[in-house]
Amino acid sequence: MQGVGFRPFVYSLAARLGLYGHVANDPAGVITEIEGEQEATERFLDALRSSPPPMARVASITFREIPPTGETGFSVRLSAQHGARTTLILPDMATCGDCLREMSAPDDRRYRYAFINCTNCGPRYTIIRDLPYDRSRTTMSPFEMCPDCRREYEDPANRRFHAEPTCCPACGPRLRLLSSDGTEIACDDPLEETIRRIRAGRIAAVKGLGGFHLACDAANQEAVALLRRRKHRDHKPFAIMVRDVRAAARICRIGPEEEALLSSPERPIVLIEKREGNGLAEGVAPRSASFGVMLPYTPLHHMLMAEDFTALIMTSGNFSDEPIAHSNEDARVRLSGLADCFLLHDRSIHIRTDDSVVQVIAQRSRFLRRSRGYAPAPVKLPCDISGGEILAVGPELNNTICVTRSGNAFLSHHVGDLQNVPAYESFIQAVRHMEDILAVKPSVVARDMHPGYLSTRYAMERGLPIEPVQHHHAHIASVMAEAGRTDRVIGVSFDGMGWGRDGGLWGGEFMLCDLADFERFGSLEAVPQPGGDVASKDTRRMAYAFLRAAFGRDADALACEMLPGFAGEELRIISRMIEKRVNCPLTSSMGRLFDAVAALLGICGFNSFHAQAPMELEAKAREAKGEDGFYEAGRARLLDGMIEVRTSDIVRGLVSDARGGAGVAVCAARFHNSIARLALDMCLEARKNTCVETVALSGGVMANACLLERLLAMLEKDGFEVLLNADVPPGDGGVSFGQAAVAAWRRRCALQCRLE
Ligand code: ZN
Ligand code: ZN
Ligand code: FE
Repeated sequence: MQGVGFRPFVYSLAARLGLYGHVANDPAGVITEIEGEQEATERFLDALRSSPPPMARVASITFREIPPTGETGFSVRLSAQHGARTTLILPDMATCGDCLREMSAPDDRRYRYAFINCTNCGPRYTIIRDLPYDRSRTTMSPFEMCPDCRREYEDPANRRFHAEPTCCPACGPRLRLLSSDGTEIACDDPLEETIRRIRAGRIAAVKGLGGFHLACDAANQEAVALLRRRKHRDHKPFAIMVRDVRAAARICRIGPEEEALLSSPERPIVLIEKREGNGLAEGVAPRSASFGVMLPYTPLHHMLMAEDFTALIMTSGNFSDEPIAHSNEDARVRLSGLADCFLLHDRSIHIRTDDSVVQVIAQRSRFLRRSRGYAPAPVKLPCDISGGEILAVGPELNNTICVTRSGNAFLSHHVGDLQNVPAYESFIQAVRHMEDILAVKPSVVARDMHPGYLSTRYAMERGLPIEPVQHHHAHIASVMAEAGRTDRVIGVSFDGMGWGRDGGLWGGEFMLCDLADFERFGSLEAVPQPGGDVASKDTRRMAYAFLRAAFGRDADALACEMLPGFAGEELRIISRMIEKRVNCPLTSSMGRLFDAVAALLGICGFNSFHAQAPMELEAKAREAKGEDGFYEAGRARLLDGMIEVRTSDIVRGLVSDARGGAGVAVCAARFHNSIARLALDMCLEARKNTCVETVALSGGVMANACLLERLLAMLEKDGFEVLLNADVPPGDGGVSFGQAAVAAWRRRCALQCRLE
């Protein structure tokens, strides 16, 4: 990788061992020529392997002997412009300890400087325009280095040797504070002034590493309520930033895994269970059992948090579903109604990158969103397909894209929902950028089977061979590829919706998969989804559809009783839609079942953001600790041999429990138990018939900790080997990776066939 201080490392190593020669960055990696005693050259090679600099990952070392040239010094050469671009680009990294020490030392020339960085930390992916990695190809190019910075930059023994974004107060970016109407606010210290305003209950738009945050005091009820009103966000939890791990431990229950994630250089948002009496406003994360917490990751954040705020809300600067704002002009236009002031700087963000979100489930970290700090680090593919690179465009919601290069898959930052024009434009930019910086010219485009997705349309327009990959197969393939597995596994894929091979809406699927193909052996009972997409928001519609499947004629009376506000005209219309099969596609979605149950238990009647109802249902289930009751789901064999799981049985059990006075939390817990149990039963059935012992779990519903913990324990107790996603999200953000893996494997198999 470039920008990790590899050349200074080689330089000091050679000096220590008394070797002569030179070292250079090349788009293909680092090239060094050394000359000296046999023993010293051997120790040099050993050290390259055993103790590279902290941020470096050495993929491979190749060497050959050449005749000595009689050099008598060691030099560091400038970047070569030509050659294959096979080096890796680093993700952005949190401010390192050395830089933190310098910025808090009053006699340091970078004392309290908001843009301090070095070869071990700072911006990378978000500022790189092109390769090779050089200041002139980053958004730091307008800033000419001052003599002091240049001296450090050119000194091979310095921590900032060829630190491309290096700068100081004399030569680097500066902060400015603007009011909401765009006029400059005169003040000595824009940062101090921003802090003063936040303390007074104002909302500030703060330009960060990958985009803008909206910041306000998380302990201030009115400020939080104001932010909710302005952002048109009623319930979706806001992310918060706290000063350090100790501050985080005061507001939530941190385990060792969470602590490690919080303080990692990637600095993701970590979802952690709240503590009672945490002192934050209820409106920070209403109806949620956890907070999304992160630690400061830029010098600016560290200074913001040095004040004694319990926590700051740091939510992404956008209206609900739009991409995060990242340029100063864009932010001023789009956020003017949201923020009271703008803390800006003049280093541009080339690629907007949202904060990543992770959660620890059963001692393992899971991605809900993989973006800043991780993109574009590669994930290994199970096969090397040099020469036939692949672009995978993902599905539609929570999208990422993925390109492959030899044995690696490079997952982009989080692109978001491709349902609006700004997101689609940002998607096209992401594709171009990834192909550019990785120097990949794809020969195949992998896409979802859904004919209507914008990603599908884009794939068709590329004019390259197309590889369609079924959505749920891609989910399972993402797990398999991460684990390096290509042979048959039992795949359990639960999510909101994916286009089925038969054109149906799938989402609760049991399949036998290898990496190239799959066979579905079971599915949840298909129920009508009244109004199509509308019903994925209005959870009461799904509740009613399930009531009809479970109770037939009695459904209307039960709906009146259990779904407040749904009686009368609306109910009559939906009922007629279902009878006449008008705009009522059938769905086997697990996500919709969670929606329905959340509505039936009176927990959530409307998804105002992605997966709101399932998340609130899960939070309720957690309240009934130790509950082990469940509802049995019957099974039926369909004509084509598929097993249908009768989810209406579960609904029947749940309704009778709820009406019989069992508490909401107990019903929610029993529901989770029932889903884990039906999944286990299907895996047992598959094992009986096929002797396959490995289960892969994926899909957005597998981000449900409550369900996953139970299911994992049951499967392992029954002797299954269970595969889960680790480096890519189980939700739709991991689909592009799964698509790429399937396409790669199919190509390899086809190649093999031809050779045989
Ligand atoms: Zn540093
Ligand atoms: Zn300088
Ligand atoms: Fe999905």
